Amino acid sequence: MDLETPLETLKGVGTQRGRLLARKGLTTVEDLLYHMPFRYEDRGNIKPLSGISLGETATVIGKLTAAQLFQSRRTGTRLFEARLRDDSGAELVAKWFRGDYLKDILSRGKSVAFYGKVERDSFSGEICIFHPEFEILDDAQDAQLHVGRIVPVYEAPGKMTARQLRGLTYRCLAAFPELDDPLPETVRRRLGFPNLLKALNDVHFPAGDADLQALKSFRSPAQIRLIFEEFFFLECGLALKRQKARTAQGITFSLNDRARNQIKKILPFKPTGAQKRVLKEIAGDMAQAAPMNRLLQGDVGSGKTIVALEAAVIALENDYQVAVMAPTEILATQHYLYFKHLLEPAGYLVVLLTGSTKGADKKKLKRAISEGLAHVVIGTHAVISEDVVFKRLGLIVIDEQHRFGVMQRWRLLQKGLHPDVLVMTATPIPRTLALTLYGELDVSIIDELPPGRRPIDTRETAFADEHKVFEFLRRQVQAGRQVYVVCPLIEESETKQVAAAQDVYERLAKKVFPDLKVGLLHGRLPTPDKEAVMDAFKRNQVGILVSTTVIEVGVDVPNATVMLVLHAETFGLSQLHQLRGRVGRGAERSYCILMCGEKNETARERIRTMVETQDGFRIADVDLRLRGPGEFFGTKQSGLPAFRVADIIRDRELLELARGEAAAFVEHPPDKKRLIQLVDYIRDKWQRRYGLVQVG
Ligand code: ADP
Ligand code: MG
Repeated sequence: MDLETPLETLKGVGTQRGRLLARKGLTTVEDLLYHMPFRYEDRGNIKPLSGISLGETATVIGKLTAAQLFQSRRTGTRLFEARLRDDSGAELVAKWFRGDYLKDILSRGKSVAFYGKVERDSFSGEICIFHPEFEILDDAQDAQLHVGRIVPVYEAPGKMTARQLRGLTYRCLAAFPELDDPLPETVRRRLGFPNLLKALNDVHFPAGDADLQALKSFRSPAQIRLIFEEFFFLECGLALKRQKARTAQGITFSLNDRARNQIKKILPFKPTGAQKRVLKEIAGDMAQAAPMNRLLQGDVGSGKTIVALEAAVIALENDYQVAVMAPTEILATQHYLYFKHLLEPAGYLVVLLTGSTKGADKKKLKRAISEGLAHVVIGTHAVISEDVVFKRLGLIVIDEQHRFGVMQRWRLLQKGLHPDVLVMTATPIPRTLALTLYGELDVSIIDELPPGRRPIDTRETAFADEHKVFEFLRRQVQAGRQVYVVCPLIEESETKQVAAAQDVYERLAKKVFPDLKVGLLHGRLPTPDKEAVMDAFKRNQVGILVSTTVIEVGVDVPNATVMLVLHAETFGLSQLHQLRGRVGRGAERSYCILMCGEKNETARERIRTMVETQDGFRIADVDLRLRGPGEFFGTKQSGLPAFRVADIIRDRELLELARGEAAAFVEHPPDKKRLIQLVDYIRDKWQRRYGLVQVG
């Protein structure tokens, strides 16, 4: 047997179980050995039945003297009872409500172990354990493996039991008197980690004196080592990939005085310290020969756009073109207006190219782009459609990247030169996570809001208080402010969502605020209409803007002071945070009103978090916890691997540690041979799982 041995070829597995295991992603012996127990039970302290006391959690072993199903006449429920007697002569009953399934499993005469809390059945007065964990003990070895020790509990596939998996794991592990350790010895020794074989043994079959608390919190030395190992190889792969990227030939932009002066002239305000710092990082990248791959992170409203614009000026002053991509047409349009307003006085031609640019216009635009007459091209993914050719594309800015597929990014990068790439996102996640998640990107963070921002007064209300809320909106609009009303999220159908927005709009425009100017914005409007509505709102010719979530990202109207979200409970936390980020951009006091219907537990936590904090990092943290990493990151899109041992939330500090160790190892391997070994190992084992293309 070796690590690659298919499980289905093992004794006691066979095709059928093999298939079950495969469905859980367990196809080889290695998969099984890295399939961690998700919890542990201390079945070490076996008690004689005569010695157990009420309230304790005990492990007891004996023979079943009776086992049968009862129908309770009183409640109609079916109750399965199994009576256990041990050498001490005392007895205990185990009871399962709706325990029908047990009648084929537990029967008189069997040797079993029960594990659970000893209680008194308040109805019959008997000493019993309700719903104990149990093991049927066929022989002495079984007893050793499944009771009398700290016992691992696995998530087992389909009809297989945790116990079968435990037995199988035990047999596999026993087949390895020794095992090659892929973790570099220098690293392992310095960190004082056990070797692989010991770690696997300890994690599956902890010694009697193992620290149960540590095991339960996934912090035993063995678990730490295995978690570290997983992160370490991932981070080594990423480090190698970045090392390679650094040698690629890109554009070396010169940071001359002309560029500096232009930037100074164009900037409409004094940049914050954080904005200055990240621009320096970006400019530093641009001055390097290797192409920039940088992620710019900053909470909503932190002022990322102007930083992108500064970077654009550097490229422009070096006679290169700039492409700016946004996820929605509305946002693209807004960026277009912003860039145009600031760059055209400096003599640059800014153009807008979206999916709805058609016919002769499109042709003309594409010509201007290919001839280099258009300096800045702003658009949606239409910009990267195959037939748009740039004359000298030097910089690509991708805004709100989490909505763009990796594929799209790549297609863009294939175009001609190796332009510098700046990706912007408002999803604040801890740096190490970002560095891992975005693999080949460097990360800059704007961690400071422009001056004068006041906290946004955030409240939850019920629909019953609607009239009060509407009164409040009216007063705000009458005072010259503006208001967003965001309609409920209907995930399954955009058509329904647009219809709902239409209804809300009709009602507000005709019934509630007939005296005020109300506008409607949604994704299905023709582009000129969208532009007209946005423009009217910008000029404060519309006081109340009813909208779908299309305004979620990027929209910037500093005079808007109220964000009213209808059925806020239907929105995700990040989404709500983004929506709230649309207000509080000017000097006036701003409000976010979350109008809620029925909430389930997680919805309640989302709303509570919104009311409690405005810290984007904290919000992302809660969101990550509520949704789980897969959904939060959109794993498929981001390329974040599915870890088998590690948990990116729980084990964040180990990710940090692994990242540092991996970087050091790749930079200064103890000897060249070890590095080559490592590259081979990653190529063999990790490329498939983690998509580390072209390692080394
Ligand atoms: P985001 O990071 O969410 O994209 P924006 O770039 O839209 O944020 O900026 C939010 C608002 O703050 C805009 O109105 C922008 O003009 C303004 N702003 C950005 N930086 C500063 C600054 N340093 N001083 C004053 N206002 C700023
Ligand atoms: Mg933005």
